[in-house]
Amino acid sequence: MKIGMIGLGAMGMPIAKCFLNAGYELHAFDVAGKAREEIEKAGAAVYHEAGDIGEKADVIVSSLPNAAIVDSVISEVMGKKELRADTWIDLSSIAPASAVAFAKRLEEKSVSYMDCPVSGGVQGAAQGTLTVMAGGPDGTFEKVRDILEVIGKKIYHVGGVGAGSGIKMVNNFMLGCNMAAAAEALVLGSKLGLDLDTMYEIIGNSSGRSFIVENKIPNFIKKRKFSGGFAIDLQYKDLGLAMETARALSMPVHMGSTAVQMFETARAKGYGRDDITALVKMEEELMDVEVK
Ligand code: NAD
Repeated sequence: MKIGMIGLGAMGMPIAKCFLNAGYELHAFDVAGKAREEIEKAGAAVYHEAGDIGEKADVIVSSLPNAAIVDSVISEVMGKKELRADTWIDLSSIAPASAVAFAKRLEEKSVSYMDCPVSGGVQGAAQGTLTVMAGGPDGTFEKVRDILEVIGKKIYHVGGVGAGSGIKMVNNFMLGCNMAAAAEALVLGSKLGLDLDTMYEIIGNSSGRSFIVENKIPNFIKKRKFSGGFAIDLQYKDLGLAMETARALSMPVHMGSTAVQMFETARAKGYGRDDITALVKMEEELMDVEVK
């Protein structure tokens, strides 16, 4: 089976290399020339237009920044007369409603679309140990299972189109709110004179524990390393997807709204590319205290 990879960024590049290492014939495209050069050196055939990928591959895999870009790439591929691909696996984090709209459009060209957002970060992508949350028809899932197993350790077929994006969005909504709450709580504790080791030990063994406490405190906050993990900009985008989805359902989301404003403030302060733990740095600056 020939794979066509569109989007060779922080996630897409290591994922593309996993496909090459697994022995797949890979046809690749990214708007960035540097990324095209890198994947060509690794053994892929590269092209200068997304549309070319649809003519060469059986299955297209996309890993793109947002739904607007996925939309334009789909238009380019659909605009080509010759279309070999009949399956599209979209790894991008997008709103469920966008996934449903993309599936409908691609159906016109007899292409079966699955939203398959991932969790596990750049490290998981490089090691092929991502968690994959797939939404789409049973038959398509069975057809692409081998491909998903190259990049993921845990593969969940959550339901129909949109279900993968839905669970990913819910997870990242919680992650964003947990991070925002932890940043305020840790700075509050520091103002009271509590040290970080004490907070880590006791909260880690109490009901306030979370991924933020268990992973982010030892690996980022304790080390005063606020970069290289999950970027504030991406978390902000993912919270935005939840806000957009809630708005469409006329559902108030108080926690989400507050978290969005905290991440917006961090972006305004120039922390957009830093890890989400940079919220701690922001709160420290506000309260003139260091969490240590
Ligand atoms: P990235 O910005 O590093 O990569 C995106 C790539 O898409 C870039 O190489 C860019 O040049 C390319 N691109 C942009 N427009 C294009 C177009 N029109 N045609 C072809 N290529 C185009 O982003 P990333 O971190 O790799 O994330 C990709 C997706 O995965 C996002 O939806 C993100 O939310 C999601 N995600 C990221 C992480 C993470 O830790 N980075 C984790 C899970 C999910």
